[in-house]
Amino acid sequence: MSKTAQIQNSPYWWVAAPVRPLPVQPLPQKTDVLIVGAGFAGLTASVILARAGRSVVVVDKMMPGEGASSRNGGITSGNIRPSFDELSRRFGEDRALAIEAEGKTARKFLYDFIRTEKLDCDFQPVGKFGGAIGREQYEAGARTAETLHKRLGIETFAVPQAEQSRYIGSDFYRGGHVRMDIGGVHPAKLAAEILRLALEAGAAVHSGTEVKGVRRDGAEFSVETSAGTVSARQVLVCTNGYTDGSDPWLRRRLIPVRSRIIVTDPLPTEVMDRLMPSRMMYSEGLILGNYFRPTPDGTRILLGGRDASSGTDEAGPTEKIRQGLLRIFPELKTVGLSHSWYGHVAMNWDMVPRVFEREGVTYATGFCGSGVVWAPWLGTRAAHKLLGDDQARSAFEFRPPAAIPFYNGKPYFLPALIQGYRLRDRLSLARATR
Ligand SMILES: Cc1cc2nc3c(=O)[nH]c(=O)nc-3n(C[C@H](O)[C@H](O)[C@H](O)COP(=O)(O)OP(=O)(O)OC[C@H]3O[C@@H](n4cnc5c(N)ncnc54)[C@H](O)[C@@H]3O)c2cc1C
Repeated sequence: MSKTAQIQNSPYWWVAAPVRPLPVQPLPQKTDVLIVGAGFAGLTASVILARAGRSVVVVDKMMPGEGASSRNGGITSGNIRPSFDELSRRFGEDRALAIEAEGKTARKFLYDFIRTEKLDCDFQPVGKFGGAIGREQYEAGARTAETLHKRLGIETFAVPQAEQSRYIGSDFYRGGHVRMDIGGVHPAKLAAEILRLALEAGAAVHSGTEVKGVRRDGAEFSVETSAGTVSARQVLVCTNGYTDGSDPWLRRRLIPVRSRIIVTDPLPTEVMDRLMPSRMMYSEGLILGNYFRPTPDGTRILLGGRDASSGTDEAGPTEKIRQGLLRIFPELKTVGLSHSWYGHVAMNWDMVPRVFEREGVTYATGFCGSGVVWAPWLGTRAAHKLLGDDQARSAFEFRPPAAIPFYNGKPYFLPALIQGYRLRDRLSLARATR
């Protein structure tokens, strides 16, 4: 058991980039666009819209970035939950390729945005190793890597088990796959930098301001907030895993799920060299698998996974995530943890992120735990949709997500669902050729 008493229950990222409230200012009575949510999606959209000359008000009930955007693993995965094979079965291979191709564009957009805007966010384009749990998964992944390389030119390749020690010092995997188009950022620094751009572009960002309801008022919208009512020509909702009862329609369509991250105490360089020789980002082929990486300074391991709890206990869920760390790296048994925290990701029925419109309100949401790439990208798609320009088109313009039967915001079924996933993971491991 680690020294839980000394663990900080706030994001490791906030040490270097604390989230802060903005100075209180009166809320404008009128604006062209009102954006709900100051995370990656809402803030990136505000930059595009303000630079295009729109008056923009962004409101967040917490501090800017305090939702998932400053709490995440910072892995620029641009992952789509359904596998390429599953997407092909559902939408046909052409649409599946269009979705993967837009993932490539979205990652490139983020990297160009970071470079051209000189965003100080510890961006490391180091690649990602995805560990396979058995030979079958390794072979299926190798086929996908070949398709993505051939059809989209993505630099991705299979790594046989005999060579995996060049990437990871763990015996748990049976080979894996490398994606060189994925890397890491410091998410809280990135959120702070996009906020800086938004303010510089002239967007009015209001923290601690809760939207209570949005209603049509003739050609405009009347947005009721905890700081007064704003009349807006257009409304963009970017509340993702923090969606609340102010939008009961959306709440019935998104399931907030806790994801928890732990960070180790600093490790000796020789240990980091052995466990993470390539200093890449990492993931694994289990439904409730872990994602992990070195911290940007290369001295600690940060590892995240599903947190099935719903209460305020931190120690129990922290220990469960630590067990995931030890499954991969048993030698870290006596290493202490410095931080453990959680945030909410938003899952929807078909696990595909999207931009859509309902009754005149635009939404960019449903990032299913992969919003470091998708939230800025779909935030910009939503902004172009509001501007009505020719950059608005996206393979992610789907119908609104389906309502989840018998669900009104309290995910009563989550414990059972997570148990089911655990069982499926156990079965996959038992059936895998290991
Ligand atoms: C622990 C964790 C690890 C993750 N790791 C990764 C990773 O490694 N890679 C990856 O790609 N993705 C990861 N994600 C997912 C990623 O962080 C999110 O998908 C992304 O940040 C979503 O951005 P967003 O702007 O849509 O929402 P958020 O950043 O969550 O912002 C939503 C905002 O809406 C505000 N809001 C909600 N309701 C209201 C209201 N009524 N009035 C006013 N404001 C409101 C909230 O206060 C919040 O600030 C992770 C998420 C978590 C929680």
